[in-house]
Amino acid sequence: MALGLSRAKAAKAVPAESAAVVLRPDEIAGIAASIELIPVPLALVGRPDHAVVVAAANRAFRAAGLGNTAGEAPVIVALGDRIATFLAGEAVNDDFTWEFGDAVDCRHFRVTLARRSPASSYCFATLVDHTGELRTARNLRREMITDSLTGLPNRSGFSELLEERIAEGGGARYAVLIIDLDRFSRVNACMGSMAGDELLITLARRLKGALRASDMLARTGGDEFGILLALEESEAEAEQVVRRIQETLATPFRMSDFEIRVSCSIGIAFGSDAVEDSEDLIRHAHFAVKRSKTSGQAEYYQTQALDIAREQFGIETELRRAIENGAMRLTYHPICDLATGQVVAFESLARWTDDHGHEHSPADFIPVAEESGLIVPLGRWAIEEAARTLRSWDVRAGGECGVRVAVNLSAIQLQRDDIAPVVEQALLRNQLAGSRFTLELTESALISDPERVAETMHQLKSLGATLAMDDFGTGYSNLAYLQKLPIDVLKMDRSFVTGMLADRDKVAIVRAILSLAQALGKETTAEGIETNELAQTLAALGCTYGQGFVYAKPLEADEAYAYLVASRA
Ligand code: C2E
Ligand code: CA
Ligand code: CA
Repeated sequence: MALGLSRAKAAKAVPAESAAVVLRPDEIAGIAASIELIPVPLALVGRPDHAVVVAAANRAFRAAGLGNTAGEAPVIVALGDRIATFLAGEAVNDDFTWEFGDAVDCRHFRVTLARRSPASSYCFATLVDHTGELRTARNLRREMITDSLTGLPNRSGFSELLEERIAEGGGARYAVLIIDLDRFSRVNACMGSMAGDELLITLARRLKGALRASDMLARTGGDEFGILLALEESEAEAEQVVRRIQETLATPFRMSDFEIRVSCSIGIAFGSDAVEDSEDLIRHAHFAVKRSKTSGQAEYYQTQALDIAREQFGIETELRRAIENGAMRLTYHPICDLATGQVVAFESLARWTDDHGHEHSPADFIPVAEESGLIVPLGRWAIEEAARTLRSWDVRAGGECGVRVAVNLSAIQLQRDDIAPVVEQALLRNQLAGSRFTLELTESALISDPERVAETMHQLKSLGATLAMDDFGTGYSNLAYLQKLPIDVLKMDRSFVTGMLADRDKVAIVRAILSLAQALGKETTAEGIETNELAQTLAALGCTYGQGFVYAKPLEADEAYAYLVASRA
C-alpha cells in the first residue's frame, strides 16, 4: 500500500502540461528503487495528451523488454487503446491476459490496470509473467498424451485426436485402424524388455513410413498401435494402407543375432455420423481386431462382431475349466515314411470341445493358454495323455506297436515348466522307452533362455527321445543353433509345402531346407501334403517323412490305431 502511494505521488508530481509525461530515470530513481522490490513488471502509464505513454517503469518491466519511458513501448503499442479506454472510463480496475512476442518466444502476462482515483489520468499497469506456469502445465499435458517410448500420441492422445475428428463431422471421411501385434509378449519374455522396446521403436518408424501425411499414428497400448486414417475419396484407401502395413511388416526385424518376424492383427472401424465418441470407435475397431486374430486377415467392424468378442472373452475361463474337468482330448495325425508310405509316428494335436459342442482350434486356444499360463497344466496333460494312448496301443498290439508319438511343446511352456522330468515320469508310468517319444519345438523356444532350453533338450535327448524343429523356416533364422543343438528332424512348415508345385519360390525354399538338413545330417518331415503328386515329389527331393491330409486328417485315438493296423496289413 505504502509503495502504491509513493508511486501515485510521484505520478502526480509530473507537471500536467508536460506533453509526453516521461520521467527520466534520475527523476524516478527513488520510485524505481522502491518498486524494484516487486518481482513483477510494472509500469505507470498515463494519457496526458490522449496519447498513452509509460510514465515510469520498474527494472523488472524494462528487463522484460516491455518498454521503458522513452520511445515506443511494446506494451503501449499493443495495449494502448485498451488503456486509453480504461482511463477514459470510470472503472477502478481492469484485469486481462496478454500475449507478447512471436510464436517462437511468446510470453503470457496477466495484466491489471489500476487507477488511484476516479479522476486520475494515470494508472498502474501490473504485468505478471505466467509463461513458465503455462509452459509447465502444457508440458504436463503433452506428457500425459504422449507415449514416452515412441514419441507418438498415447491412448489418451489418440482419443483426443479422434474426438477432434468426430467433432468435425463428415462421418464417412475417416476410419480407425487398430494394429495388435501377435504374441508380442513373447518377444519381451524371450529377449528382454529392452529388445522389446527397440523393436517397438523400429516398428513405429516403419508404420509411420507406410502412412500418408494425413494419417495419424498413435501407440494405444503396450503392443498396440492406432491409426486415424483420413479417407479422401473412398473406403478402399483403408485397404491400401492395410496392404502397405502388411508389406512393411513382412520384412523381418533384425535384432542382434536374430531376425524377428512380426505379425499383427488389424481391425478397422469406419467413422459414421452414428458414432458418438472416440471410445465407441476404438471399441468397434477392437472387435474387428478380435476377429482378425482368428481369420488371420484384416477385419472390418460389423455389429455382430460384438457377440464374437464376448465369446472370446469367455474362452479363458472355459478353457481353464475344460483342462480341470478333463474335457480336452488329443487327436493323432499320422507321419509317414515318404519312401514306403508306412506310418512311423503320430503327432498328437489337442482338441477342445466346449459345453456348447463347439470345437475350438488349437490355433485359437493355445495362444490363450500361453498368455494365461494355462499352457503349463495343458502341456503336462498332453504329455501324459499321449503316453497313455501310446501305451494303450502297445497293450492292444501285444507288444510295442511300432510307432512313436510326437508331442508339441510351446516356447512359453518350455520357459515356464521343467519339461524333462514331466516326460520322464510319463514314460515311466506308462512303461515306455524314451525312444517312443518325439518332442516338437519351435525356433522361438530358443531365443528366450537358449542355455536353459538347450539343457532341457539334452535332458530329453538323454531319455532317448527324438527332437524335431517344428514350423522350420518361419521363425528366427539363426542357423547356428542347428549345429549346436541335438535336433534330429526339421519339420518344414506347411506354408512352404502346400501348393508348392505351383510356386517356384516355395520349391526353392524346400530344396534349400532339404539340402541344409542333409548337410547337417538331420532328417526332414514335410507338413501339409495334400496330394499324392506332392508326396512323390518330396520323396524324390530327398525328404524323409511326410504328414498331411493326403494320408489322413487328424484321427481320434481309436481311429489312429485302426489306421496303424491297416497300414501294416
Ligand atoms: P503344428 O504343430 O504345425 O501342427 C500341424 C497343423 O497343421 C495341425 O493343425 C494339422 O491339423 C494341420 N495340418 C496337417 N496337415 C495338413 C494338411 O495337409 N493340410 C492342412 N490344411 N492342414 C494340415 P491343428 O491341429 O489345428 O494345430 C495347430 C497348431 O496348434 C499346431 O501346429 C501346434 O503348433 C499347436 N498345437 C496343437 N496341439 C498342441 C498341443 O498339444 N500343445 C501345444 N503346445 N501346441 C499344440
Ligand atoms: Ca507340430
Ligand atoms: Ca508345424
